[in-house]
Amino acid sequence: MPLDAFARHPLLFGPSPVHPLHRLSEHLGGARIWAKREDCNSGLAFGGNKTRKLEYLLPDALAKGADTLVTIGGVQSNHTRQVAAVAARAGLKAVLVQESWVNWPDPVTDKVGNILLSRLMGADIRLVRAEFGIGFKDSWQQALEDVRAGGGTPYAIPAGASDHPLGGLGFAGWAAEVRRQEQEMGVFFDTIVVCSVTGSTQAGMIAGFAGQDRPRRVLGIDASAELDRTRAQVEKIARQTAELIDLERDLRDDEITLLEGWAGDAYGIPVQSTLEAIRLTARLEGMIIDPVYEGKSMAALIDLVRHDEIPRDSNVLYAHLGGQLALNAYSGAFH
Ligand code: PLP
Repeated sequence: MPLDAFARHPLLFGPSPVHPLHRLSEHLGGARIWAKREDCNSGLAFGGNKTRKLEYLLPDALAKGADTLVTIGGVQSNHTRQVAAVAARAGLKAVLVQESWVNWPDPVTDKVGNILLSRLMGADIRLVRAEFGIGFKDSWQQALEDVRAGGGTPYAIPAGASDHPLGGLGFAGWAAEVRRQEQEMGVFFDTIVVCSVTGSTQAGMIAGFAGQDRPRRVLGIDASAELDRTRAQVEKIARQTAELIDLERDLRDDEITLLEGWAGDAYGIPVQSTLEAIRLTARLEGMIIDPVYEGKSMAALIDLVRHDEIPRDSNVLYAHLGGQLALNAYSGAFH
């Protein structure tokens, strides 16, 4: 059915802001760069891309009579913090499995930033030692079991709210929102740059834009050094979402683009280009990005413009997906 026919529980302020990054564009001497700001899309605990996805999962949870949202992420997960906020807003409980996905030796990693806010919002947090992985983990299945055993009704939200039947809808809606904003502003963004890890942000965009009449490039930037796995997940969710919203054609392979080269060796570990991108964006624009996700996608954008892989006459929309709270656990990277 069409996207508008799906139940949506409003959690955002409205359309997220879009604005030009004049000084960054001038500095790079090329394409006109704009940002669309999911980092300030909501009043729920600083928002972010998951808040937009959860607008579609929350009505499903409520319709199923759930009383507890159960999800999983790393210790400094932005996603789990947004689930905690949505649970608070909806009067539900939240159980957050937070795994040690990142080998980043900061003594306050499990105390500040995202996890601090989740604690404030009353979430039940379970710290688990385990490697990075976006699949269905035993720790998460166990948490679901525990809620059931305690007489509760859990609602299962996978990592990043991605590998879920409704996971792509939020960003299919983002694509429609971009089109409306373009019409209001008299601009067309031929290139979108988006960070991709659990995949449904980019996948939703691809499915949403595929139904529009004017083609554009959606460049997904790998931030977890797991290109093949991420690509497979984006492809799966994009096709599933396209079908769900009645796109009456198959997605072409060339509509699914994942680029590697800016993730470094591992999820959660910034490299030189990440730190340079964070500093540059902060100093030129006062726009803050994080060392896990957006620092890597911004490093890609900078290189792609510098090397003319994004043409000089392009209008580029940088999807700022949030994540700044994690900076609190990375002060050591900026000494
Ligand atoms: N940027 C931020 C700040 C995130 O929290 C995430 C979440 O994983 C992403 C980008 C990547 O989005 P996705 O997991 O939907 O690929």
